[in-house]
Order: sequence, then C-alpha cells, then structure tokens
Amino acid sequence: MATEESASAASKTDEGTESRDVRAVLKTDIVVIGAGQAGLSSAYHLRGLGIAPGKGFLVLDKSPDSGGAWQYRWPSLTLSTVNRVHDLPGMQFADVVDAGHTEVKASVAVPRYFAAYEEKFELPVYRPLRVKVVCERNERFRVETDRETFSTRGIINATGTWETPYIPNYPGADRFKGRQLHTRDYRTADEFVGQHVIVVGSGISALQLLDEISRVTSTTWVTRREPQFRDTPFTPEDGRAAVAIVEDRVRRGLVPGSVVSVTGIPWTPALEAARERGILNRLPMFSEITEDGVRWADGTDQKADVILWCTGFRSSLDHLAPLQIREDDGGIFMDGRLATRVAKDPRIHLVGYGPSASTIGANRAGGAAARELASHLGLI
Ligand SMILES: Cc1cc2nc3c(=O)[nH]c(=O)nc-3n(C[C@H](O)[C@H](O)[C@H](O)COP(=O)(O)OP(=O)(O)OC[C@H]3O[C@@H](n4cnc5c(N)ncnc54)[C@H](O)[C@@H]3O)c2cc1C
Repeated sequence: MATEESASAASKTDEGTESRDVRAVLKTDIVVIGAGQAGLSSAYHLRGLGIAPGKGFLVLDKSPDSGGAWQYRWPSLTLSTVNRVHDLPGMQFADVVDAGHTEVKASVAVPRYFAAYEEKFELPVYRPLRVKVVCERNERFRVETDRETFSTRGIINATGTWETPYIPNYPGADRFKGRQLHTRDYRTADEFVGQHVIVVGSGISALQLLDEISRVTSTTWVTRREPQFRDTPFTPEDGRAAVAIVEDRVRRGLVPGSVVSVTGIPWTPALEAARERGILNRLPMFSEITEDGVRWADGTDQKADVILWCTGFRSSLDHLAPLQIREDDGGIFMDGRLATRVAKDPRIHLVGYGPSASTIGANRAGGAAARELASHLGLI
C-alpha cells in the first residue's frame, strides 16, 4: 500500500482517561468497495490499465470469504435454478467449476470461482473489512472501516444490494405473532412443514420459493401488481432493451427500479408445473396484518403462521451518505459511458447499480468505470 499519513483519534483507556490513539491512514488512488462480480471486474480492469494492485488501488470487502453475496444464498439455489452467472473477464467459470453439475449450490460454486479469480489475477482484496462511512477530507476521500482508515482520490463502489433487504410497511406488522422473514433469511422449505405460509412478491425469487414451499406445506401467494408472465423466451435483445430502460432512469436521476419489472417472467418448466399444481393463484395484497394472519380488502381474514417477504432489495449505499449524492427521492444522477459515474462527483463510480445490477452488467460496467476513473485522476 502507498505512503502513510498519520491521524489521531481520541479514545478512552481502560482507566477512563482520554488518550491520543495515533492510527495510520493508508493512502491510495482508488478504493474499490465490495468484492462481488462488480468489484472484481473493476479490479481486473484497473490492473489491466497498469495501476499497481495494493498501491494504486485496493479492494475492501466486509465478508469473511470470496464470493460476494453468493456465499449467503439459500442452499436450494443451484446452478440450474439461477438465471445465469456470467464469466468474469479473463477467466471462465467452467475452468473452476464443472458447470455440467447443475445441482451444485450457487453458494459453493460462485465463491470457489471468485476465490480462484482473485488468486489468478493477484487482486488486492482486504477482508473482512466493513466500510462504515466515506466522507470528503482535503479533496480526498476518507474511507473509515471497522479496522483501518484509508485516504483515496477516487471510489468505485460495488456493494450490491444484499445488505439492504426491503420490506414494505403494512399496518399491523408489529402485531403479528407468527414469523416474518425476508428472502435473505430463507434457508429451506422444510422448516415450514405444517405451517401456512404467505409468500409476498412477484419476482423470480418469490416464484422459486413459492414453488419449493408449496411442495411441503400450504401457501397463499400475494402480489401488489398482477405478475407479468411472458410466453416467449427471454432473448439478448430483450435484455438490452430492459437495461436501456433502467439506464435511462438513472441518467435522469430516478430510482433504478428492478429489471424484472421491465422484462416480465418467462415460463420455465418448473413454473408450468407449479401452475399445473394450482399454486400460482395470485391474490392482490392484503390490507393489514393481524395477530394471526392477514386481512383482505373485503374484511375477511386469512390465518397464517409465516409471512415470507420476497420484496426485493435496495442498493446498499448508506456508507456514502456524507457525500450527499442522493436526491430527495433516493435517486442519483448518473452519467458516463455506461452510466456508472456519479454526475455530481466524477471521482465516484457505482458499479452493480441500476443498469449494471446483473453479473453481465457488472462485468461491462467494471471496465467502463475503471477506465473513466483512472483517466479522470490522470492515472492513464
Ligand atoms: C437471489 C438472487 C439471485 C440472483 N441471480 C442472478 C443470476 O442468476 N444472474 C445474474 O446475472 N444476476 C443474478 N442476481 C443479481 C446478481 O447477483 C448481482 O447483480 C451481481 O452478482 C452483481 O453483484 P455485485 O458485485 O454488485 O454485488 P454482491 O455480490 O452483493 O457483492 C457486494 C460485495 O460488497 C460487500 N460489501 C457490501 N457492503 C459493504 C461495506 N459497507 N463494506 C465493505 N464491503 C461491503 C459484500 O460483502 C459483497 O462481497 C441475483 C440476485 C439475487 C439477490
């Protein structure tokens, strides 16, 4: 790592007296926050531009192991049930994991691939190191983690969404005596045997979990809007069109919105089988939550033991709050070639945000962000 600058912070000793705790602030040019697909792609491209790993840039990640958020995904999410995990630039997934074994858990396979990737390209990933806050100091950024503090000229933020599950507010949520959980906390359907489960949400995860849980117990499926299934397969053109819509939104400073809300859900054999089993009888949202279930708009009640909120995630950006890049409604004006650059401050890029919130999007965006930021800072 580059030169050191000293900084002092007041701390209490065991005796309670005030002492000066002199800590090093480690200096670099670019800090990448997050080592998922977006962070690793960015790091690969920074290295490819000739920026010295560990000196010119480094990567900070809060998780104990390689794998980004994939290491936390539920066990039944396998290589056959994910949409598709795209290869990171420069190394194929199949070089590390036999993709023919489609029943391999995504939470095992992807971390293995990322670990091999970090090793092969000698990427300077420091973990576990949680970035608590980023603020501006003397025309540089001060990146405070739960251990060291870093000083940097540019930031590539790639912290994904996993840390920020979203559950909408419904009256009575505090009253419910059963169990409420989010997709993020789901492990296996078996824990719900004998219980009635209300699954909320119309995305791919909601449908996968509904399918699994309904095989072992009774379920009710509710969504805010009528789910949009599509009869035709999802083509690369559809993907590009969906990304273009989200990109247009972030360029206008709007909250990105989910790609599924734009693309609809293609019928898969598993979904068709669920429809045959009568599982996909979607109901509109309940009006409130009661002690032992939910109440529909017509005043009738549905008893339930569990409410499973498959209601998505938000971008995990709280640590950037002092930089004030967000508009009042939560949107961020983005620009640059692939809309990774924060319009208010070209020293900050967000990769894995908005149009690049997919494995393929994160790959491309990492390249664009690395080049634009390095160029802006005069490093290339
Ligand atoms: C259930 C599920 C299934 C999905 N399936 C697919 C699929 O099949 N195909 C596809 O293309 N996309 C899929 N996606 C989306 C995809 O996972 C991501 O868009 C993609 O992997 C990009 O990841 P990322 O690097 O942005 O985020 P992540 O993989 O979440 O990585 C973020 C990293 O940042 C670190 N981090 C977070 N906060 C901090 C902090 N404060 N300090 C330090 N480090 C921090 C985390 O530890 C993590 O390692 C899926 C998403 C979900 C939720």
